[in-house]
Amino acid sequence: MSVTGKGRSDARARVNDFDQELTARLDRLRQDGLWRELRRIDSAQGTRVQIGGRSFLNFSSNDYLGLATHPALREAAIRAIRDFGTGSGASRLICGSLAPHHGLEEALAVFKGTAAALTFSTGYAAAVGTIAALLGPDDIIVVDRLVHACCIDAARLSGAKLRVFGHNDLTDLESILAWAAGKTTPTKRPRVLIVTESVFSMDGDTAPLRALVELKERYGAWLMLDEAHATGMFGDHRRGLAEAEGVTDRVEIQMGTLGKAFGASGGYIAGSRALIDLLINRARSFIFSTAPVPAAAAAARAGVELVQGEEGCLRATQLQNVVRQLRATLGAAPPTGPAAMSAIIPLIIGDEGQAVVHALALREQGVFVPAIRFPTVARGSARLRFTATASHSAADLAELDTALRALPRATSTP
Ligand SMILES: *Cc1c(COP(=O)(O)O)cnc(C)c1O
Repeated sequence: MSVTGKGRSDARARVNDFDQELTARLDRLRQDGLWRELRRIDSAQGTRVQIGGRSFLNFSSNDYLGLATHPALREAAIRAIRDFGTGSGASRLICGSLAPHHGLEEALAVFKGTAAALTFSTGYAAAVGTIAALLGPDDIIVVDRLVHACCIDAARLSGAKLRVFGHNDLTDLESILAWAAGKTTPTKRPRVLIVTESVFSMDGDTAPLRALVELKERYGAWLMLDEAHATGMFGDHRRGLAEAEGVTDRVEIQMGTLGKAFGASGGYIAGSRALIDLLINRARSFIFSTAPVPAAAAAARAGVELVQGEEGCLRATQLQNVVRQLRATLGAAPPTGPAAMSAIIPLIIGDEGQAVVHALALREQGVFVPAIRFPTVARGSARLRFTATASHSAADLAELDTALRALPRATSTP
């Protein structure tokens, strides 16, 4: 069938309607101070990044230990490309389960001190695949109000009843667990999964993990702990907050990303052999997706090994020094307990538009830091999110201090 002149102009009109509607939506985002755009970076991740021909001091990266450009990771990736090529060919269950993925998972299980581990293409995919594999519509999922979007999306996808407890509010959590316990009948016992983060990604505070573990044990609930911002930093072996709090073997599902402190990309779940086998059989984001490229797995494995070794220890110690200096520079009160080790330090602004204004003003001073706004955080709690890395120098912090002094003083830290 040929498209007539009239048919073609109708088609064009429909496309115009589509674009007009989207443009109206984008206009609303702009008015609300919620417009986002990509900024092209012409250099590697590091404390200095090149944007539009200018060098910026970078306080926005989650490359906490500075491993994203480490020679050992680069070498490992290059070697994997040489030996295994660039693509993985298929999903792991079809023919993409290449040796670098197995090597990485063995290294992760050793590192985390669990029986097994499974990797995914991203942390997001790990959360979505795992939660939807473990729970169904008859079950209950209880999440901290500030958990990462991937866990919320996963909860929705699973069809389980979603209940949200106040941030780190164990009294609220207990009342939900008591409610959930009341759902048990002689014939039906809904599974209850609690999901929280060890270090919260936009606030930098930590979960009261020990008390939380005791609570979930009392109610027979399962716990999934997202260690995205604690792995590589917390605990004697830098395994995460579960290690630091001595509860590793009491957390059913430990989750993390390979894209932050490990300097590569991907996500992982660590836990029992049964958990990992169930995920291999049931996690749809694992089953129906091409395996990550071998270079990513090899780089991540080199990252895991570095974190575990002497150099990881030195870098984590260096990171702690930078965190202390960055807190002082930002005028943030040192928090007590494990949160003092968190590399995420938000400067709360409140208003979305103001946060953007401050981020732009800092950019004029040569400092790159993101304005975090709704929907990443609640409306009216926009912030500049500073992250410390082991690679920041005293000179970098002095330069930030100068830039901050040039800003209007309308900010506070929690
Ligand atoms: C970054 C992050 C994720 C997602 O991991 P990716 O590998 O980036 O997909 C999950 N949870 C938290 C808390 C994160 O900060």
